[in-house]
Amino acid sequence: MDKILVLIEHRDAQILDHNLGALGFATQCARRWNADVCALILSNNPLALSSKLASKKINEIVHVQHEILKNYTLDGYTAVLRQWIEKNSPKMVVFSHTSIGWDVGPSLAASFQAGIVTDISALAFEGSEPIFSRQVYNGKLVEKVKIKKAPYFVTVERGGFASVEEGGAPQVQSFDVSLDNVQFRTEFIGVEVAQKAAVDLAKSNIIVAGGRGVGKKENFHVIEDLAHALGGDFAASRPVVDNEWVERDRQVGSSGKTVAPKLYLACGISGAIQHLSGMKKSNVIVAINKDPHAPIFGVAHFGIVGDLFEIVPALIEEAKSQGIAHR
Ligand SMILES: Cc1cc2nc3c(=O)[nH]c(=O)nc-3n(C[C@H](O)[C@H](O)[C@H](O)COP(=O)(O)OP(=O)(O)OC[C@H]3O[C@@H](n4cnc5c(N)ncnc54)[C@H](O)[C@@H]3O)c2cc1C
Repeated sequence: MDKILVLIEHRDAQILDHNLGALGFATQCARRWNADVCALILSNNPLALSSKLASKKINEIVHVQHEILKNYTLDGYTAVLRQWIEKNSPKMVVFSHTSIGWDVGPSLAASFQAGIVTDISALAFEGSEPIFSRQVYNGKLVEKVKIKKAPYFVTVERGGFASVEEGGAPQVQSFDVSLDNVQFRTEFIGVEVAQKAAVDLAKSNIIVAGGRGVGKKENFHVIEDLAHALGGDFAASRPVVDNEWVERDRQVGSSGKTVAPKLYLACGISGAIQHLSGMKKSNVIVAINKDPHAPIFGVAHFGIVGDLFEIVPALIEEAKSQGIAHR
């Protein structure tokens, strides 16, 4: 019977939730191919980790135990995976699209001279041949890709697939590996947890965002003042953040936050694709820009052509006189 291997990721002695979607993806393929799904756990203590998978509808949980596998290293993981793949010849090897998946996946695929498709967001079949979909150009297009022959190496989008079903009783197996001849080129030093953001823009109902049109850091208070007067949060385009006028966790766009507030007020923002991809799902978009041809007007529901330093103070006065922030 064909096998599908899924690499299980863990941190702080916990299996990470996105593995369940990767297993869900694998079970969709397994149904089509009548294959077995094997979840591979590499750890110094895999037994303690596998309980979360014990009732999932998969066929096998494979433990690989070694002190050096307590934390991820490319060389350690590659060595184990290569040994398992050589012995079992799986039809497909599945990684989550994470910093681990995109590190080890392409490296392994290259070493087997096999094809890889990354960040898969949807799956279809032509007969038994899989067709993988992935978003490109900041989500503007969907690319459909086939790999010419198995084994298929893939990384799957986090949250892109339903979790694997409950109601199974997978067999637990151990797989012995030799890591004696492995040259470890990197050493795990530690994990630094990112500081909690001062604001969670994804939850904001009203966002006032300022762009390069604000001119300089000292001017940015007009954007903050309007946000406060409206009872909302302030945000920024990337140049504003790169210039250190505001903190990075307030950047909206493809390399910042994706937001969908009830009201998004863009002030002095031109409307580059990378900015739009982070805010175009807002309910109502108001743009203030002195250039009537600025692309932001293409997505705005209301556009004000003019100088933000005249318009924003007038809006602040109006909002204050109506007591909007306190409603
Ligand atoms: C890989 C990559 C990722 C990126 N990620 C992001 C991202 O996450 N978020 C992001 O925002 N950008 C991102 N960018 C940058 C993006 O391409 C644009 O350069 C950026 O969005 C432009 O920011 P802006 O609109 O503030 O500045 P500009 O494009 O310089 O626009 C300034 C606007 O202000 C107007 N203006 C000037 N003065 C006034 C005034 N007094 N009153 C009214 N209007 C005025 C001008 O007419 C102009 O339209 C990314 C780029 C790359 C390559």
